[in-house]
Order: sequence, then C-alpha cells, then structure tokens
Amino acid sequence: MATKSRIYFTIINPLLGYATRRYRLLKPQPDWKVMLVSQSPPHNTRLGYLAQIENGEWIATLGGYGRDYPPLSDRDFLDFARSLASPKFYEAIKDAEPISPIYAHRATANRLRHYDKIELPHNFVVLGDAVCALCPVYGQGMTVSALSAIVLRNWLQKEYSHSSTILKSSAFQKKLAKNNLLHWSLATSQDSQFPTTQSRREVTSGGLLSWYTNRLLQLTNSDPHTYTQLIQIVNLLRSPLQLYHPKVIFRVVRKSPSKKTNGECYQLKR
Ligand SMILES: Cc1cc2nc3c(=O)[nH]c(=O)nc-3n(C[C@H](O)[C@H](O)[C@H](O)COP(=O)(O)OP(=O)(O)OC[C@H]3O[C@@H](n4cnc5c(N)ncnc54)[C@H](O)[C@@H]3O)c2cc1C
Repeated sequence: MATKSRIYFTIINPLLGYATRRYRLLKPQPDWKVMLVSQSPPHNTRLGYLAQIENGEWIATLGGYGRDYPPLSDRDFLDFARSLASPKFYEAIKDAEPISPIYAHRATANRLRHYDKIELPHNFVVLGDAVCALCPVYGQGMTVSALSAIVLRNWLQKEYSHSSTILKSSAFQKKLAKNNLLHWSLATSQDSQFPTTQSRREVTSGGLLSWYTNRLLQLTNSDPHTYTQLIQIVNLLRSPLQLYHPKVIFRVVRKSPSKKTNGECYQLKR
C-alpha cells in the first residue's frame, strides 16, 4: 500500500517483444499500404505489421507476447513471419530487399506510478509516461500524454483564477489519475487476455458485463468490423461508449465468435 512518502506503482507486463526492419519491396507495389496480422489471445501470441513509409520503403514489425520474442537473424526473422496467422505477410517480404538491421524492443510493460497517493511538494507536477506508460503496441502513449497536458492546462487555468500562486500538486495528480484510468484499463485489459501476462487483471470475473466484454473481445478475432471499432477505441479515436452502441450489441449477441483463434489479416487499401 501507499505511504505518504513512498511512491508505489503497478506493473502489468505482457512480456511482449518486437523486432523491426526496413525493406524495399519488389515491383509491382501492392495495392494496399498497411497490413496487420493480429495476435489472437489466449494462444496465438504473434503479430505482424507492415506499412509503407517514405522513399518507397516499407517497415516490417514482428511481435510476440509472453516472451515469444521474434528472432534477430535474417532467416529466423523470415521464419517467424511465415508462422503468422496469415501467409500474406511472409509473401510480401520474402523476396524483398532488407535495407536496415533488425532492431528489437522489449520494454513493453504497462507502468502506473501512483503519485496521486503521496504528498508532492507544491508547484511540482508529474505527467505523461512518468505517470502512466502503456504498452506501445496499441499506439496510445502520445495521445495519453497530450491529454495529460490538457488536464494540466485546464487545472492551471482553474487554479490560477483562484488568486493563490501556490499550486497544490496533489489535487492535480488526483485529477490526472482519474483521467488515466480509462486508458490504463483499455491497454491492460488487452494484455490481460494472455495468460502469460505478469500481474494480469482478472478479465473473466462473471456477470453480464464481463460476459459481454469477453464475447466482444473474442468476436474481434474473427470479425474485422468489430476489430476495427475496438482499435479505434483503443487508439482513443472513438468513445468507449461505442462498445455499447445498439449496433455493436447486436453484432456481439447475434454473431458467434469463431472457435478458431488464429488471428486476422487486415489490409488498408490505398
Ligand atoms: C518503442 C516505442 C514505440 C512507441 N510507439 C508509439 C506509437 O506508435 N504511438 C504512440 O502514441 N505512442 C507510442 N509510444 C509511446 C510514446 O512514445 C510515449 O507515450 C510518449 O512519448 C510519452 O511522452 P512524454 O512526454 O511523457 O515522455 P517522453 O516522450 O519520453 O519525453 C521525455 C523527455 O524527457 C527527457 N529527459 C529524461 N530525463 C531527463 C532529465 N533528467 N533531464 C532532462 N531531460 C530529461 C527525455 O530525453 C525525453 O526527451 C511508443 C513508445 C516506445 C518506447
């Protein structure tokens, strides 16, 4: 538990590692610009992301949850790509020209530091990744940090309008903690679907809401429409309330989640 003097933190670690390499693809260029082969918890730990970047180059990222780390040698990297749920990823890069080394990244733990539970000196605040750092694979971190800055701006405007120039930081940290809760929940509930995730949250606690959430998450493995909506919510482009829109409820209730949990291949067309 927290004490007034000692900061404590929560870590939920999916033990996800990824490896990235740039390629020049052979001509003709594909008619899509992004391909995502998704992981599919609890058993399919592997994902691939291929996207066109500047100068006709492509960036290929492979990832694996639960210490299923992608290898860093040429041949093993390709073998890992071949093991993804869809052959399309491997097909796209197997004859392509590698134009960079393979770079690995494994610091993907979600970390929440509870500055809201301690006394900070006045006029000193903490925000961004220093408070809430999320597993980078969901692409939320910059948005969460930018939103933290907005919380700070709004708080400063309110506090300064109250004549005092001494800012009680603890009040801000409490406000920020409340603001971060949703983003933390979204990222860690994704990671907690893997049994290998360290300190994972309980995702099957029973009750209607839990049933609905589990079924929806399962459906995202086989239904691109629901998956896209979930990703938009996780990327903070849409309100989480969209998950309870009648159309989504209808899909979740009517459509049986696929028993096959192989992951999906999504391509974003030009
Ligand atoms: C591999 C990886 C991929 C990511 N991909 C995405 C993504 O696709 N989309 C997304 O939204 N987010 C992504 N993120 C997360 C995103 O980068 C962070 O959430 C965001 O940068 C946090 O912003 P920040 O300002 O809190 O911290 P930072 O951006 O880390 O800025 C902190 C700054 O403080 C400086 N600093 C540190 N110590 C000191 C010191 N003692 N004195 C002075 N300066 C210091 C650092 O050099 C740094 O410039 C990714 C993160 C990683 C690690």
